Amino acid sequence: MIQGSKSRYAFAKGFFLDRIAPIGLEFTNQCSGRCTFCWYRHNTDGRSKGAMGKETLNRAIKLIDEYNKEPTIISILTSHGDITMCNKFGAYLALLASQRFCKGISFFTNAILLNRFDLGKLMKLPLHQVHFSFTVFEEQFKRLRGVDAYHQTLANILEFARLNKQRWNRAVLSMLLANDKPFDYQDADYRKLLSALGKKNIAIIEEWDDFNGLITVNDIPRGHGFKPNIQDKKVPCYGLFRKMKILKDGEVAVCAVRVNPAFIIGNIFDYYSLRILWNGEAHRELIADWERGKLPEICKTCTHYHPVTKSYDSYNRQGTFFNRVMADLKLRIKRRHYGR
Ligand code: SF4
Repeated sequence: MIQGSKSRYAFAKGFFLDRIAPIGLEFTNQCSGRCTFCWYRHNTDGRSKGAMGKETLNRAIKLIDEYNKEPTIISILTSHGDITMCNKFGAYLALLASQRFCKGISFFTNAILLNRFDLGKLMKLPLHQVHFSFTVFEEQFKRLRGVDAYHQTLANILEFARLNKQRWNRAVLSMLLANDKPFDYQDADYRKLLSALGKKNIAIIEEWDDFNGLITVNDIPRGHGFKPNIQDKKVPCYGLFRKMKILKDGEVAVCAVRVNPAFIIGNIFDYYSLRILWNGEAHRELIADWERGKLPEICKTCTHYHPVTKSYDSYNRQGTFFNRVMADLKLRIKRRHYGR
């Protein structure tokens, strides 16, 4: 049982279950990199490797259209792979962009194979945010990324940024760097990235995910450490509420950082409404189990745990005081109406 601030938790839970959850689509679970610091090479998801088929994407589009009455940002997921491994990446993005619910598209990529696609065409799409993962210095790139593609990847990122600049920086570009300590801030390639992306958009990862103990200190960049595993996990994790993921074969899952059978709450081919699926028995049971102290095994050692009450607090700090009061009021009325 959750002790103490029970009502605060009940309110946070109601808030996240009632709002439209952001949606992510998994185009593929294959990857072009073999990063030592990622669990991909351990094949932890246990699923067959492949890309989302057109039939699955069409079904997802149909349901998202019904679910989202307001235009929304669609994110393309990379929990287990890189989107550029999907041959139809460009065509799929164009199809999504043509939908009335699509306000913008965000994706994350290691950029190794970006040159397989027509970047000029890609730029014409409503890209919202593009996040790159990269390692500066050829030797470190080879060691940490497991592939010999440093120059090609750097060129891809710089070209993408150049084309984006031509379009008045319509998409926000950001970059996470995996590099040894100490880092040479005067390096010529790093300076090129700085001027292409801007200083505030580049961050060096210093605290790493150990992927439930699969990744050791020898796998991460030198001089770095791991995030601590919080022991007190009584309040359910924000991961259960944060995003609705539609995986490549149509399964719908929660948790943005792990793919695991425990997080599957349904399949788009078995439902005619994402709203019903999101508020369905499987999702509620997953949350109720946590409330009873029965956490999914994978959550017990996960360092990404974040109590949903804290997420609710930070949402609540956003916007004007008037808007926050109105949003709270609407939710209270709605919950009374549905008897929750
Ligand atoms: S504890 Fe980790 S694996 Fe579990 S829901 Fe939260 S973020 Fe996901």
